[in-house]
Amino acid sequence: MVSIVVVPHEALRKISKPLSEKEIKTGEFKKLLSDLSLALLTRDDGVGLSAPQIAVNKRVFVVAGKVFNKDWLNDKKPKGVLPPDEYFINPVITKSSKKLSVLEEGCLSVPEMYGLVKRPSTVTMEYLDPNGVKKTKKVSGILARIFQHEIDHLDGILFTDKATDLKRIEQLPDGSEL
Ligand code: ZN
Repeated sequence: MVSIVVVPHEALRKISKPLSEKEIKTGEFKKLLSDLSLALLTRDDGVGLSAPQIAVNKRVFVVAGKVFNKDWLNDKKPKGVLPPDEYFINPVITKSSKKLSVLEEGCLSVPEMYGLVKRPSTVTMEYLDPNGVKKTKKVSGILARIFQHEIDHLDGILFTDKATDLKRIEQLPDGSEL
C-alpha cells in the first residue's frame, strides 16, 4: 500500500532528481508511475500527485485522468470511461504568461489547509512522456495551476510558501470536513 506523506515529512522539502533515459525504461520506474496513480486514487479530491508526495525524490508527477474530461472541467459528473492518468517526467516551464490569476489551492500533503495563490495564468511546459518522448504542452486554467503546483513539489516548495489568506478547514466533532 502506497501512502501519501504529509508535512513535515523531509521528502517534501528536498529538490528531486531528474530521471535519466535509462531509468525511464526500467520496471522500477513503471512501478513508480503505477504507485503514483494508486496513491492518487485513494483520494477523491486529488487531481495531481508528485513523486516526493509518496517519498520518492524523482522529477515526475501524475495528473488524474478526470481532469482531461470536459464534463469534470465544467463541474458536471463525467459520463462514460474517464481518460487515463497522464504522467509528466522532468517537466520544465519554458514560458509563462505575464497575466497572473489568483486561485484557491490545497494539497494532499498539507491536510486541511487551503489558501489563495497567485500564479501565471498560462504556461508552456516541456517534459518527457512515459516512453521517453519529448513533448510540449501549453495550458491555462486548472491544468496550468496543477502543472505549476506539482513542479513546485519537485523543487521542495509547498503552496503554503506562496499562499496568502491561509485557512484551516473547520472540522466537525466527528472528524468530517466542512
Ligand atoms: Zn501538492
